[in-house]
Amino acid sequence: MIGHVTLVGGGPGAADLMTVRARDALAAADVVFYDRLAPTDGLPDWAPGAELVDVGKRPGHHRVPQETIHQMMIEAAQSGKAVVRLKGGDPFVFGRGCEEVAACREAEVPVTVVPGISSAIAVPAAAGIPVTARGVSKAFTVISGHDPLSEEELAGLVGLGGTTVILMGVGTLGHTVTGLRRHGLGDDVPVGVVEHGFGTDQRVSIAPLGEILGVAAQARISHPAVLVIGEVVRLAAVEPMTGEAAHRLPAGEATASAGVQRIRALAGAVL
Ligand code: SAH
Repeated sequence: MIGHVTLVGGGPGAADLMTVRARDALAAADVVFYDRLAPTDGLPDWAPGAELVDVGKRPGHHRVPQETIHQMMIEAAQSGKAVVRLKGGDPFVFGRGCEEVAACREAEVPVTVVPGISSAIAVPAAAGIPVTARGVSKAFTVISGHDPLSEEELAGLVGLGGTTVILMGVGTLGHTVTGLRRHGLGDDVPVGVVEHGFGTDQRVSIAPLGEILGVAAQARISHPAVLVIGEVVRLAAVEPMTGEAAHRLPAGEATASAGVQRIRALAGAVL
């Protein structure tokens, strides 16, 4: 009998931000193909007995080609297995989930999708940045910074206003910031960069558009990070709002992490 494939959104990295449905799919899995950005530490417990296969990718180093992932999932399902493809965030937000679903359909392998909490909304929230706020921003645009933004895209973002959220945008930050300024976005518009959201090394840097490149270079901002551009960044919490880090952080300057002190310094200067 043929098995099936379940594409599972694992959320932004914290184990307790996975959905019940995601955990149920893992519990029933015979094989799990997982990515680096999904929560993975608990996999041996969540998917007991399942074969665990790391098909994760680092930027620029596609460890397992996409075609091979399709082939592995399909072959496993055709041999009768319950296959879980565990991905970071939501499978349909820049995750190539759509291609994986298409490949399964083409091979006539039953496929379902379990949505996940996308880093596009959750990682800003981890820094206390709401992507919308009444009277401040009534729209948010999520865009991939994997490739440099085109002139039309830059003009569109500036024209629409609201909040811009950029994923995979560390490598193209210079191009994006220069382009947005050229298209008329004000130098004082605040920009937030949230690195390693929900991790113990989560770090938030905030600066005005006109200064963010200097701040980012000094902080050596690295992947994975979510960039947030817009007035909502002014609402950033001084301390992390969500995630384990928030529970562990006692109040008070002396005990605040380097990341939090950095926010304080920048927020004080900017806001
Ligand atoms: N499907 C995923 C996004 C995949 S693209 C989702 O819905 O979240 C990968 C990008 O997501 C990274 O380059 C980064 O911009 C962002 N990202 C995912 N998890 C993150 C995290 N924990 N902290 C910061 N950025 C994250």
